[in-house]
Amino acid sequence: MTKDTTMTGGCMCGAVRYETTGETFGVNYCHCKSCRKHTGGAVVTLAGYMADQVQFSGDERKIYESSEGVGRAFCGNCGTPLTWEGVSSTQGGPIFEIHISTFDNPDILIPSGHAFDSERISWFDIADNLPRFSEFDGEGTPLRHGPVSEGLPSK
Ligand SMILES: [Zn+2]
Ligand SMILES: [Zn+2]
Repeated sequence: MTKDTTMTGGCMCGAVRYETTGETFGVNYCHCKSCRKHTGGAVVTLAGYMADQVQFSGDERKIYESSEGVGRAFCGNCGTPLTWEGVSSTQGGPIFEIHISTFDNPDILIPSGHAFDSERISWFDIADNLPRFSEFDGEGTPLRHGPVSEGLPSK
């Protein structure tokens, strides 16, 4: 991707659309309970952008404040989860973490790690060799690389 990269996406019904400009600062899986609750998925994958890189259009997205200063946006018509949004101390400003499967072309957004492995559903793992962090991706020493070595519970 180049600095000029523009990507588009939106919700399932098409009422809420967005456009991102420039490169994402990171693509990561998130296993945290809140992301899983927000989407209903066993894991989510998010691409991060500074707020000024993202332009929304169409219907106004709805925002549920899941904790103080943290918004989780979704389409008020079809319910598609769209973002985690708030101020990032590591990025130094307001950001949008966009659920990558809402992009029209998510194939080029390739994850580089796993966040909140400590909250991962016990039976769920992925056979990649990416670093697994206890909490935020890139912070501290990874718990490990790759799937749990002892294997996953069978029942
Ligand atoms: Zn929609
Ligand atoms: Zn999360």
